[in-house]
Amino acid sequence: MKSATCSSEEFVYINGEFVPKENAKISVWDHGLLYGDGVYEAIRVYEGNIFKLKEHIDRLYNSAKAIKIEIPMTKEELLEAVVELVKRNKLRNGYLRIIVTRGVGFMGVDPRNCEKPTIIIMSELRKALFGGKPITAIVSTIRRFPSQCLDPKIKSLNYLNNVLAKIQAIEAGTDDAIMLNMEGYVAEAVTENIFVVKKNIIYTPPLTAGILEGITRSVVIEIAKNLGFEVREENLTIYDLYTADEVFLTGTAAEITPVVKIDGRLVGNGEPGPIFKKILEEYQKIVKDPKFGVKVQEG
Ligand code: PMP
Repeated sequence: MKSATCSSEEFVYINGEFVPKENAKISVWDHGLLYGDGVYEAIRVYEGNIFKLKEHIDRLYNSAKAIKIEIPMTKEELLEAVVELVKRNKLRNGYLRIIVTRGVGFMGVDPRNCEKPTIIIMSELRKALFGGKPITAIVSTIRRFPSQCLDPKIKSLNYLNNVLAKIQAIEAGTDDAIMLNMEGYVAEAVTENIFVVKKNIIYTPPLTAGILEGITRSVVIEIAKNLGFEVREENLTIYDLYTADEVFLTGTAAEITPVVKIDGRLVGNGEPGPIFKKILEEYQKIVKDPKFGVKVQEG
């Protein structure tokens, strides 16, 4: 791996080089820009622990395979590049992104126009998406696109479906939007999975609802089961949201965020619920635990 000499403190990895942030540029002919033709992962670092890094890398390779991009490096090499970037950027707590695009090519969607994928790793000092505060949401009229069109399991660079729902949430004066699938069942929020609590049982939409298989979702399911709660992966309706005791969202950016109002109806008593609080407490412990990540040694 080559490294550029510079005075800047912050680097971006682009195709094998660590480039100073201000020089981190890619071609306007990159199909990631021209067609959203690519995949990505978002990852958090807690006290130097790159949380669930291997799981994120596995999901990235699966997304890439699904859209027929062959990532020209091994998972181990990619993991090392991520670790190296975290070291160079002295990122103790923050947010990482790995992006793999189809690469630079002629115009035209034909993927054969692109010679090799572009690989980018970048970091940011990003706080929790909603600042750790309870949020309000609408149920969006924009449906999550079905797996017959583009499987939401693929974490692709195509986020317009989600962006449109987010715009609707903002226009409605709320923080986030909950999206239904084409059958009318609850799918997920804009960039988070969703959990509903009713009479001490925790529900979340099944993967067959057409959702991203969230890494935070899996962690939360495990925490909840370890705490002795029953977790059911079941189809949920708008009614289930309106009548829930608790609703919370999970995602790398949002971490675990309680939803206290949906379409103008208070969720439970309008305060973050006790089950959310118990799960959050456990979550905050394990994110720093090297058992659940790749710990970067300082120095
Ligand atoms: N759904 C969507 C559409 C997302 O973009 C994200 C964020 N990656 C999630 C769910 C949550 O996934 P994770 O917990 O792996 O960040």
